[in-house]
Amino acid sequence: MSQTDPRRRIPRTDSLLAEPAFAAAVARHGEALVKGAITAAQQRARAGEIAPEEVGSVAQAALPSRATTLRPLLNATGVVVHTNIGRAPLSQAAIEAIEAAAGYVDVEFDVETGARAKRGRGTLEALREAVPGAGGALVVNNGAAALVLATTALAAGREVVVSRGEMVEIGDGFRLPDLIASTGARLREVGTTNRTTVRDYADAIGPDTGCILKVHPSNFRVEGFTSEAALEELAALGVPVVMDIGSGLLRPDPMLPEEPDATTSLRRGATVVTASGDKLLGGPQAGLVLGDAEVVEQLRRHPLARALRVDKLTLAALEATLRGPRPPVTSYLHADAGVVRQRTEALARAMGREVVDVAGAVGGGGAPGLELPGCAVELPDWCAVALRRGEPGVVARVERGRCLVDLRCVPTESDDELLGAIRAALATGGVGS
Ligand SMILES: *Cc1c(COP(=O)(O)O)cnc(C)c1O
Repeated sequence: MSQTDPRRRIPRTDSLLAEPAFAAAVARHGEALVKGAITAAQQRARAGEIAPEEVGSVAQAALPSRATTLRPLLNATGVVVHTNIGRAPLSQAAIEAIEAAAGYVDVEFDVETGARAKRGRGTLEALREAVPGAGGALVVNNGAAALVLATTALAAGREVVVSRGEMVEIGDGFRLPDLIASTGARLREVGTTNRTTVRDYADAIGPDTGCILKVHPSNFRVEGFTSEAALEELAALGVPVVMDIGSGLLRPDPMLPEEPDATTSLRRGATVVTASGDKLLGGPQAGLVLGDAEVVEQLRRHPLARALRVDKLTLAALEATLRGPRPPVTSYLHADAGVVRQRTEALARAMGREVVDVAGAVGGGGAPGLELPGCAVELPDWCAVALRRGEPGVVARVERGRCLVDLRCVPTESDDELLGAIRAALATGGVGS
C-alpha cells in the first residue's frame, strides 16, 4: 500500500469502538454484532465501494435500531384485541412493573424470614380482590394452558362433559376437543350444535365424570333456534363445572352484554373460571384460573402446573394491570366516538382525504358480532403495504379495495407520527408494492 493509498485512511476498529456512538451500540447490541458491522464497512472501503471517511456512518447505519427483531407497530385496524399483532398493548404501569421485576426480585421469597414464599402472591391477591367470589387464584402461561391444567387435574383418565355447541376452534387450527384429548381426558359430547339442555348433561354424568366444561364461543355466534344450559343448573348436578370465559372480563361490562365475566360466572355456580390475561383484561399473555380455593389448590399442586407456570415479568405486568389505571384495551374499547372523530378529521384534513364511517371490532376472541361504531381515513388500497413497511409500521384495514386508517387503537400521542407515516407511504406512490 502506497503512502497515498486511501485505504490507509480506513479507521481502525479500536478507534471506532472508542467513539461514544459505538460504545452505546455495544451496550445495546453486544460487541460481536457491532464489530461485525464495523468489519463489513471496512471491507467495503477496502474494495473501494465507499470512502474511508464513510466507514463509521455506514457501520452505524447497518446496526439494528432495536435490541429485538420485533417491530413496534401502530394498530390502525380498529380491531382492539388483535392476536397477530400482540393482542393487548400494556399500560405504562405494566411496562414499569416489568422493568422493576427484571432484576432479582422477591417473586418466591420472603424478605422478612429469608425463606421461600408463595410465588407471585401479590398478583394472586390482586386477582382475588378483583373477583370477590374467587377463593383461589392461579396464573399460568395462557388461556389454553389454564384449560389444559383444569381438565387434566380434574378429569385425566375420566370424562369431560361438553356441549356439541361449544366444540370451538380457538384460531390457527387449534381446536378445543383436540386440546382436551391431549390431556388424557375423554370428551363426552352432549346435545346438538344449536341446542343443549341440562337434561343432556345430567344423562351423561356418571361415576366416570371428571368435570363439566362450559366454553364461551368467543369468536362466533349461533343465532336462531338455540338454547344452552344455565350455569346455575349445571352447578346443581354435583360435579365440578369449569367455565372457560376466554376474554378475561373480570366484571360485567355494560358495553359487552353477551360477554361472560368471571365474577358473574362464579356467582352463578361455576367451580372455576379460566380466562386469558391478554384479551379484554388488557394485560400480558397469561392464563387465569379463579374460583373454589380447594380446586385451585389441587390444580396448583398438579405436576403439570410447574410446566405451565409464568415468569416474574408476567406476574409483575399482570398485577400492575389489575391494580393500576385502566389499560389501553379498555380505553380503546370505550373510546369517546366524538374525540376519535375529531382526531380522524384533523388527520384527513392534513392529508386532503375523506373520512368514512366504519365499524371497529373487539376481535381476538371477544364479543363476536359486536360492531363498535367508528370512522377512518380512506386511502388507496396500495397504501396498506407501504404503511406496514414504513417506520413506524402501521397496520391499516383493507376493505373492498380501500385502505382504512382507524384511530380507535392509536394512542393520541402517536397522531403526528401516524401522519408522518401516511405521508411517507403516499410518497412512495405504490412503487415497490
Ligand atoms: C382465547 C380463548 C382461549 C385460548 O386462550 P389463549 O390465551 O389464547 O391461550 C380459550 N378459550 C376461549 C373461549 C378463548 O376465547
